[in-house]
Amino acid sequence: MTFGRHGVETFEYLRREVTDWRRYLHENPELTYQVDNTARFVTEKLASFGIKHIETGIAEAGIVALIEGGSGGGRTIGLRADMDALPILEASKKPWASKIPGKMHACGHDGHTAMLLGAAKYLANTRNFKGSVALIFQPAEEADLGGQRMVDEGIMDRFGISQVFGMHNMPGMTVGKFGIRAGPIMAALDEFDIIVKGRGGHAAKPHQNIDPIVIAGQVIVGLQTLVSRSTDPTESLVISITRLSAGEAYNIIPDQVEMAGTVRTLAPVLRDFAEGQIEAFAQGIASAFGGEIEFNYRRHVPVTFNHAKETDLAITAALKVVGPGSVNDTIKPAMGSEDFAFMLEARPGAFIFLGNGSSAALHNSLYDFNDDAIPYGVGYWVNLVETALTFGT
Ligand SMILES: [Zn+2]
Ligand SMILES: [Zn+2]
Repeated sequence: MTFGRHGVETFEYLRREVTDWRRYLHENPELTYQVDNTARFVTEKLASFGIKHIETGIAEAGIVALIEGGSGGGRTIGLRADMDALPILEASKKPWASKIPGKMHACGHDGHTAMLLGAAKYLANTRNFKGSVALIFQPAEEADLGGQRMVDEGIMDRFGISQVFGMHNMPGMTVGKFGIRAGPIMAALDEFDIIVKGRGGHAAKPHQNIDPIVIAGQVIVGLQTLVSRSTDPTESLVISITRLSAGEAYNIIPDQVEMAGTVRTLAPVLRDFAEGQIEAFAQGIASAFGGEIEFNYRRHVPVTFNHAKETDLAITAALKVVGPGSVNDTIKPAMGSEDFAFMLEARPGAFIFLGNGSSAALHNSLYDFNDDAIPYGVGYWVNLVETALTFGT
């Protein structure tokens, strides 16, 4: 037996079957934790490959399945796919478009699930590795933190997972290309609310009131200086006010303004900075006008942080599929967030991007996962397993 490189051509024989699975999942999208039909489909497929150890019902509808390698001992690595869709009305008009109005696989999680199933079929058949592979199928990536919940329900310890890996398709990147970087690759996501409290009254007599709308205007503009004047220009911090509501009439200054917004950053220390400084800044502005604020800050998703050693493994695996020239190992980080970050907090690992060609953007009603990417994604998983869990190590 040889355990060298398996180029993408090795996985062409799975393309038709995995494409059928992908399109079935695309036609039948499900949201958040309510992915019961998807989980049933995944479980049936895994069982049909001869995989015996399948645990269902983790974080409601999540699944972890273990494939043991051809020789005993060795470590266990986790490979993760997400299963949930989005509340979007599909506009693609493809023959396999969503059959459920208002629900759509607009982030390609149908492709992620199908590709991990394709890798499972190959690995269960060949078992050319030492140790075990834990296939992690998670619900609720788009909302409600299914990845965090699977970690909280103990999957890393229970299945003895020592490293964990994730993959996401990327529109705009050529099919057959991979993108990755060590360190932060996707941003943290936090949310905040500010209620600016003034004192309402007649709009013709502003001097008798404390106008919360004027205060809110100063706060909105001023918060941008926390980024431009108080943050290291080489670091990334986004502060966006995304919701604003106040007032009901032309002639009344309201009592208060409600604002909401989001903070995105690639540096954990900037989350502490943003949380502290947004409150202090808004309070300071409000005080100067005689008003006050109520402030609430919620940390949602941490930075998706790629560990050095595991990133090297991922790069090696991707190179085995496509060869040099098609793996960008210094890709720019994305300012979106990904709840695989919770798995990377629990165990060292790496998250990689897979080219989806010139498709519509993620979360767009015209988006579709590119089935031409399937042999590359399957090939990445298989080469990763056989690289990380080589016989003799
Ligand atoms: Zn998404
Ligand atoms: Zn996604």
